[in-house]
Amino acid sequence: MPQRVTDIIHENMSHCTPNALVPKIQAEFPNITAAQIYSTWIKLSEELWKRADNPLESAKQLLAELGDEVDIIHTKVADGVEQLCWVIKKIAGPLGKGTVEVALDATYRTNSAHLELYYVMAEHDNAGFPLSYCLLSTATSMEQRKRTKALCRWVRRLRDQWGINPDFVHIDKDMAEIGMVRKVWPQAKIQLCWWHLRRAVRERLAKAKLSTTPYNPIRARLEFSFIDVDFRPAGASDTQEYEGGFDYHQPTSVASGPGPNSILLRIPATQPGAAPTQSNDADDDFEETEVKRDFGPTELTLPNGRKVKIIPPIPRTSDNSDDDNDEETEDARRTFCPPEYRESIQKMMDNHLNAHPLIPGYAAPTPEGIREWAVRQMYEYCERNGLCETWAYLWENWYRPGRWELWARSTVDDIARLKTTMIMESHWRRIKKDFLHHFHKPRIDFLVWILTAKLAPSYYRRLDLIQRPVGRGYRNLSSWRRDFKREWKKCVGTEITYPLNPKYKPDVRCWVCTCPYFAKSRFLVCKHLVQMVEEVPITFFHEVTRNRTSPIWSHTSLKPKHDYEQIDPLSSPTFSTSSLPSSPTSSPILNSRDLPSAQSDDDDNGDDDSHIGKGTGSAFFLFFGHLE
Ligand SMILES: [Zn+2]
Repeated sequence: MPQRVTDIIHENMSHCTPNALVPKIQAEFPNITAAQIYSTWIKLSEELWKRADNPLESAKQLLAELGDEVDIIHTKVADGVEQLCWVIKKIAGPLGKGTVEVALDATYRTNSAHLELYYVMAEHDNAGFPLSYCLLSTATSMEQRKRTKALCRWVRRLRDQWGINPDFVHIDKDMAEIGMVRKVWPQAKIQLCWWHLRRAVRERLAKAKLSTTPYNPIRARLEFSFIDVDFRPAGASDTQEYEGGFDYHQPTSVASGPGPNSILLRIPATQPGAAPTQSNDADDDFEETEVKRDFGPTELTLPNGRKVKIIPPIPRTSDNSDDDNDEETEDARRTFCPPEYRESIQKMMDNHLNAHPLIPGYAAPTPEGIREWAVRQMYEYCERNGLCETWAYLWENWYRPGRWELWARSTVDDIARLKTTMIMESHWRRIKKDFLHHFHKPRIDFLVWILTAKLAPSYYRRLDLIQRPVGRGYRNLSSWRRDFKREWKKCVGTEITYPLNPKYKPDVRCWVCTCPYFAKSRFLVCKHLVQMVEEVPITFFHEVTRNRTSPIWSHTSLKPKHDYEQIDPLSSPTFSTSSLPSSPTSSPILNSRDLPSAQSDDDDNGDDDSHIGKGTGSAFFLFFGHLE
């Protein structure tokens, strides 16, 4: 390595990432590889981050030196558990108590000590800011439910010392993390990342394996009378197949209120056979380790107090199969979900996730009504196409009580700003790209230094820019605002076919539209609404605020065009639906004209082609009417 290269790296150490140095050095020394530059950089930077030979000890000392920037959370750890947590003061301080949405994620294989890195980010102005990190290793611990307990200790301190009490927690589908959130932030709405959800379903539907999550059709039927108990997989189930792991922390009742076709059931939280060990530890009411679960007999208490024993059907296995040969031959040909059905199922799930009482138009405007619509639509689709294994999987992992609330956004009054944990992915991508590109498993003290000394300052700058009034100096649009502006302009430039499809009822004052595009849109906009307002000035894109309730967007320049000002508010969907009785039992009497009809696919007929493409509309509005 020429001395000149070492000098360049040394000179730029404090203000340049190794990633940025590569082209600079290679312009002068084309034969030097990127890997060489990275390894020299890390070697020369050692004086900045290496405090001891033991990497964890070194990381602790480093964090202690950074007292102005970080607050180390001291947690009591069990034998064999290694845990190092810290809070980014300059972010948790200004954002802490006002944080409404957080995202939580973990990355593995980030360091040579094999500690998992967990982190919590706060949403602020639709962007993510790192609040706190936790490095955790439980590999050599014998403690029960060690991972969840350690995470609880960390997040509880974050809640109590920094006032972080979010309304929404965005997360992927790891049940240990979900259990922790339910424990520490019980009032928060857990929202599974839409992207992770889609991927999980897509991957499962693509597998041929027929045996799936154990399905209890009787319980499903007790909640929804249209479910036929005989429509169930004939073969053996797979007691290991649970998306995100087995959920030990199910709510004790299956419905938050009596739904249109439901009766209230109380299901014992502990299944016979699961038998979690009893303990007085505060963290002990959920389990983390995998145990086999069987389904019964289970006792249920009906609303009149009568107790009912449920003896579920015994799943047939290959050993005790009473199938005749014909059925076996047919089974051998069967596949879990043939390719032609997969896309429709994914689209229906998208629609079920997106439905919300604030966006009326394709389901009853209540959480209970939306759930019944979603379950019925998916069940009837599976039944019509003979997809009993797919139905069993979908019900037990996504549609049954305890799972539905994790991904459907209709279960709470507000609509979160975030829909994915993308802010987490991009945070991690930046570290990877800028610093760790050629180091798969760096030392832990190096990682801590990168996170606190190198990465955090870029977030301080961004936060400072956001909080600065727009008028004082020019600022670039943040990336979501750029995306929003692009989307807005696209909506302005897309032609609307008149007369408008009668099912589309844009309500510019409430900023909701019943067209298919609106509910799906990342920014909750559509061409109908955007073209109903006066042209917006450039400052609009800098200043506009996204609300979690109607109207979704607000800004002083957002004014309805003159033509729309006189629209009778009573003819708008928001007013007409909210004037309906909100009792779930009466939601099925919704005027069917307000809702898409069963066979309707005429949103395919041109008006929205530019928005959603051919074919997507029909799945969106597959509404198997139960309104007669
Ligand atoms: Zn619209």
